[in-house]
Amino acid sequence: MLRSAESHNARATGTDLAFQRCINPSCGATYEARSVRTSCDRCGDLLDVDYDWDRAGLPSRMNEFEAMWSRRHDPVRFSGVWRFHELLPFVPTDQVITVGEGQTLLQQTDAVGKYVGMDAGRLHLQYEGMNPSGSFKDNGMCAAFTHAHMMGAKRAACASTGNTSASLALYCSATQLMKAVIFIGSGKISYGKLSQALDYGALTIQIAGDFDDAMLRVKQITQELGIYLVNSVNPFRLEGQKTIMYRVLEALRWEVPDWIVVPGGNLGNSSAFGKAFMELKQHGLIDRVPRLAVINASGADTLHELVERRGVRWNSGNVDMDPIRAYNDHMDREALRADTIASAIEINRPVNLKKCLRALDFMDGVVRQVSDQEILDAKSRVGAGGFGCEPASAASVAGAKLLRREGVIAPSDRVVCILTGHELKDPTATVAYHTTDQEVFNSVLGSRGVTTANFANRAVPVPNELDDIIKAIRLYS
Ligand SMILES: *Cc1c(COP(=O)(O)O)cnc(C)c1O
Ligand SMILES: [Zn+2]
Repeated sequence: MLRSAESHNARATGTDLAFQRCINPSCGATYEARSVRTSCDRCGDLLDVDYDWDRAGLPSRMNEFEAMWSRRHDPVRFSGVWRFHELLPFVPTDQVITVGEGQTLLQQTDAVGKYVGMDAGRLHLQYEGMNPSGSFKDNGMCAAFTHAHMMGAKRAACASTGNTSASLALYCSATQLMKAVIFIGSGKISYGKLSQALDYGALTIQIAGDFDDAMLRVKQITQELGIYLVNSVNPFRLEGQKTIMYRVLEALRWEVPDWIVVPGGNLGNSSAFGKAFMELKQHGLIDRVPRLAVINASGADTLHELVERRGVRWNSGNVDMDPIRAYNDHMDREALRADTIASAIEINRPVNLKKCLRALDFMDGVVRQVSDQEILDAKSRVGAGGFGCEPASAASVAGAKLLRREGVIAPSDRVVCILTGHELKDPTATVAYHTTDQEVFNSVLGSRGVTTANFANRAVPVPNELDDIIKAIRLYS
């Protein structure tokens, strides 16, 4: 395990200034940071991690964090999460766990920008696939894992469409501090993600059902057996995910962009981004707030349906639950289940719905849905104009393109699309898109309403003859 060389300084830090608070303002119950919970005992709502900021020793300007770059010999300040420890001080720096997460990149790309419809220099892609386990989940996992260790946990569990389990399994294998127990739905997980969980040695429970079924079960089982739950209902996860926004600001030399565009699954990321900006604004560390666009796949569009069609709003914390219940009942009655090639966002009932509504409210946000066709076309453009991503991640680029077409995003806006997962997470989807084999195409993509691979880069079959090979290269290059 990598430990900090930084001594625990005199400044108040750690659990003495952190606590958990119910997000429902009319409840507002608080709990110790040193307790394991995923909901409010009093009203059942979600919890935030909050701090006594007056004692927290905040920097006066964001660029003070640049001083941490010279301390990269210290694993804590090498980490792209814990480098910003002052903004998530729920644990002293000498108890922080890191595997080197958050060494990610903001790429400005005009090739993809042109596809989206942006002016030159305005589109940025935040590559969270560069994390140790290949997705943004590591940002949150290192925080939840640190809390789990702080609480003395020996086992940690999650339900997962793949990336959360890969991340948990990695933290367990790299630190040897806990045993990972992961729950996945049957036949839903991509090989890239499953192979990680297996290779890292996690106990992998594959139940007959989908993500939402696995989520229900893991909640029961963690309570029954006293196993620490690391899904994004865990408020400490979201503390780590706030740092994605800090790194975006850092890469933009602390200038706030106009838009953050992110795929929406369980809505942990969008919720964490909202909290990050609420806090930075509250501390006077930024002068304005970017707008938020959360992008659903049209095959898993609960948030879009609720916000854009049924008018559900944060409403100062008094969320009208009736339309939400009505929609859930309708889904159950009609046996409607999420179905999209973007398996990481294939979710029926997003667990962080209310926190996301709060983020949308604070960041003047919008929600859109994009088809699997749009997702895969956008994904191929990201691959051809950048470092590539998995299908769910490309929903952000497809969503930005849609919002450009609608005129909601202006061509001169500065836009940051979050690419949540690595290109190699789901090679099946990529190969099916580019294949010449109609059977492969149909079996993977046909049922998802994908009709044509508009940007397919097909392999060229050539006889094993020098002349034919030369001819083919001359013809196609
Ligand atoms: C988990 C995940 C998402 C969904 O993020 P939420 O925070 O659950 O909305 C999107 N893309 C990828 C690659 C993921 O792993
Ligand atoms: Zn409460």
